[in-house]
Amino acid sequence: ISFLECLPKSELHAHLNGSISIKALQELAQSHGPEGDQTIKSKISEFASGVTLSKIDDFFTLFPAIYALTSSPKPLAIATADVLSSFLGPVERPNPQSYLELRSTPRKQPSFDGSRLEYVQTVLSVVELYPATSCAFIVSIDRRMSEEDIKECVDIAIQMKQQGRRVVGLDLCGDPLVGDMELFKPYFQRAKQHGLGITLHIAETKDNSEHDTNLLMSFEPDRLGHATFLDESSRKMVLEKKTPVELCLTSNLLCKTVPTLNDHHIRFYLDNKAPIVICTDDKLPFRTTVLGEYALLLAKSPLGLGLSEQEVKEIAEMGMQARFGVTPSA
Ligand code: IMP
Repeated sequence: ISFLECLPKSELHAHLNGSISIKALQELAQSHGPEGDQTIKSKISEFASGVTLSKIDDFFTLFPAIYALTSSPKPLAIATADVLSSFLGPVERPNPQSYLELRSTPRKQPSFDGSRLEYVQTVLSVVELYPATSCAFIVSIDRRMSEEDIKECVDIAIQMKQQGRRVVGLDLCGDPLVGDMELFKPYFQRAKQHGLGITLHIAETKDNSEHDTNLLMSFEPDRLGHATFLDESSRKMVLEKKTPVELCLTSNLLCKTVPTLNDHHIRFYLDNKAPIVICTDDKLPFRTTVLGEYALLLAKSPLGLGLSEQEVKEIAEMGMQARFGVTPSA
């Protein structure tokens, strides 16, 4: 463990509302939750004892209970502070070996008591308490969003960046089978023109069509999330462009998009010496940590991938090179 602890590591694929600790959720339920809402309390107990998903679709039904507890600026700020301290350590003494690019989807009424701009400003006000060498923020766009919603979120991301706030990228997330990606393309292109890094959840399930994947590849992403079922031509493009892929081992196993670690597409990227980043995705339902994910790399098969310390060190270095927020090789 001490070898892993000492390694500089970047977490570049973590969703805010999927990364809140059980303890913080319980406290939020006490002080801010809707009075006596049993559904929320039983959901929290489910998180505490470990969720079981039969397929990835079940996963998206977990979030409304969490959203009910981060439904206004104050609890959202508390949740953000909890997530940042769990990844980075206390704000007055951040762990120098840890770097985080946290992502979240700006919400508004009815699930958030405020505007989308207020949502982003609330998260940024906590992110910016840490030094820029520790963390930054990525605005997530949900595949379910209407064109008007997409435009609003992209405008906010650009506006924040222009004001010198710590927004470094734009993400595409949400139910992988929803939405017409043609609609999203010009907005992601506009964000890229304004210097935001682009990361896309792509080919997350075997039901994602090649058309959807190819269309997303035409956005010219700077990083990819999951990329579990990339078709041949997209894989070729990823290798040629050396696009870093954010890999979430435990998430893929628990969502059952990958049957075992030995079948994981990490092998493809390692064999091809292509850049990857080891990430947690949603450490609340998946009950994992950055250290836990790295431990899977080192542990012998079948528990882990049985990589050498040198190989793990090189993977961690690739993760640091893939940051949007800090100039590579800085
Ligand atoms: P939030 O954006 O901070 O609210 O984090 C939770 C949201 O992230 C969920 O509602 C999903 O839209 C998205 N999300 C979390 N994990 C995944 C994933 O594995 N694939 C796609 N979207 C995800």
